[in-house]
Amino acid sequence: AQRMPRGNELKAKAAAQLKSAREKEHPPPPPADVIEPPSSDRKDGVVYHVGKLLGKGGFAICHEARPSGSSKRIALKIVKSKMPTKMEQKFQTELQIHSKMRHQNIVQFHRAFTFQNCTYLVLELCPNGSLMDMVKRRKGITEAEVRYYTVQIAGAIKYMHAKGIIHRDLKMGNIFLDKHMNAKIGDFGLAALLLTGKDMQVMRRTTLCGTPNYIAPEILEKGKKGHDHMVDIWSLGIIVFAMITSKPPFQSSTTDEIYRRARDRDYEWPSSDQKHVSQEVKDLVAAMLQDADKRPDPDTIVGHSFFTAGYMPEASEMTPKLREFPPE
Ligand code: ADP
Repeated sequence: AQRMPRGNELKAKAAAQLKSAREKEHPPPPPADVIEPPSSDRKDGVVYHVGKLLGKGGFAICHEARPSGSSKRIALKIVKSKMPTKMEQKFQTELQIHSKMRHQNIVQFHRAFTFQNCTYLVLELCPNGSLMDMVKRRKGITEAEVRYYTVQIAGAIKYMHAKGIIHRDLKMGNIFLDKHMNAKIGDFGLAALLLTGKDMQVMRRTTLCGTPNYIAPEILEKGKKGHDHMVDIWSLGIIVFAMITSKPPFQSSTTDEIYRRARDRDYEWPSSDQKHVSQEVKDLVAAMLQDADKRPDPDTIVGHSFFTAGYMPEASEMTPKLREFPPE
């Protein structure tokens, strides 16, 4: 047999080590029936009949499940109750932020409970995988579909930002597809609260009593908003590019090189003999990849000429055929 080149061998070894380290963090497979203990808003508790494995993340595993006495399937996201401190923190933020979100393009958070040393999140089921799976499988999707998904994701970003939340980890792998093929943002593990309005005033008041030497001027300027939330618009720019070409624009073998290319906006669209890409979508991506203070907000994005330059699908055209997804 041919020997693997040494570099690849090392890479494979590192990947295997990472995999086994991660498996230690994953919870064991759940029992066939998971019991939600009684709580103040649900005196009798609930039994969930656990179905197939949907996927594994950094520290969570996710199964399909059906609450007894209901025909509606949900997703159970499971993590160990005792996690390394850093993950515990990530998970607490995720819980707090995700549970306050309610939007048609954000995975609905139903409830959370503890059972047999694991924490369970009951989430809206997205049975069609992630946007990344679909885009990779199809090696890029049509501009009409990109219009459809970009409007949905921009709507979810507008909602989060209005609530003072920055997602900070938007990517195709964190955007799931529901049974009608709508995009739903999931995984709020890196999300953060943006200080605005009242909180900002409180902070201004309290910090001004303390030492002023270390306070950035934008914190002090009344009414002036920072640009922190614009990191999500940058990510949307990357997502739009990737939906069309099936690769992120700055893809490289090393992280340093990715950062260098991002800083220099060093990216290329496929040549016209490989794939036709409209000028409008190129303009839209370029606008989202500008410096933070110049990036368009979600309303400006959906007002861009890309969305009127070609076909915009109806929801009914995106829904997969019923025979593929028999009624529950
Ligand atoms: P982590 O926070 O550990 O990264 P994820 O939230 O990414 O975990 O979930 C792990 C995997 O579980 C995902 O990649 C996806 O395959 C699946 N998954 C997560 N949430 C849902 C959901 N609501 N519906 C269907 N599958 C889901």
